[in-house]
Amino acid sequence: LVDLRDIHLAFGDNAVLQGIDLQVRRGEAVSIIGPSGSGKSTILRCITGLLRPQSGQIHVSGTRVDELRTESQLIALRKRVGFVFQQYNLFPHLTVLQNLTIAPTLAGGVSQADAEREARVLLQRVRLDHKENAYPGELSGGQQQRVAIARALAMRPELILFDEVTSALDPETVGEVLTVIRELVSDGMTCVLVTHEMRFAHEVSDSVYFTEAGRIVEHGPSAQVFEHPRSDRTREFLQRAL
Ligand code: ATP
Ligand code: MG
Repeated sequence: LVDLRDIHLAFGDNAVLQGIDLQVRRGEAVSIIGPSGSGKSTILRCITGLLRPQSGQIHVSGTRVDELRTESQLIALRKRVGFVFQQYNLFPHLTVLQNLTIAPTLAGGVSQADAEREARVLLQRVRLDHKENAYPGELSGGQQQRVAIARALAMRPELILFDEVTSALDPETVGEVLTVIRELVSDGMTCVLVTHEMRFAHEVSDSVYFTEAGRIVEHGPSAQVFEHPRSDRTREFLQRAL
């Protein structure tokens, strides 16, 4: 579903991605782990077309993302690729329900009634059906993040990218967000996770990529990378992170 081939990207003379190869199959959960500044968020931004690499190829579900030129092509791509960030970025002046229905009705061509019906199903899925009339400011961080996940799902994306969605949360609310992601993964949603929650990544991922200084140092099945890392760099990183 996602295929990155030899991606190079620099900001000025800062070579941030130096030959990234990464594949995600439909239904797979893939984690990207690695030190701060190693390029993890930059990889996700390339997948959604927010950043264009200097060289290399990016295929997402049959689309050559690195060759998209027009804004309408990029908007079409972003309907198919959900993105959830560390900062939830909910619309503060809209209720929870309205946050979920605005994109499907304005950009997805869905009727208001259908969008609301779908939104209520999604709110049940993230266990927030009792909060549909609340405003984001009235919710805890973990609840807001679950709304953000439901909002991404409302566009019926083919895959969802999660960029450190629990790092801004209180420890008590991290678990409820991870539970929602775990359920999405077991329902077969294709997910790419950038996370510092190593035990969670170990548990839910089919495959894991370890990045350092813009390169993939190691990748493989989750059990192999976490339990029998081949690279000394991966081993050192995991020892410090666990
Ligand atoms: P973290 O774990 O801290 O989130 P990361 O692995 O996600 O780190 P990136 O955000 O991908 O790292 O950043 C990789 C490098 O690219 C860093 O050196 C960063 O300073 C640089 N960088 C990222 N975005 C930009 C930008 N818009 N302009 C210039 N440099 C950038
Ligand atoms: Mg990042």
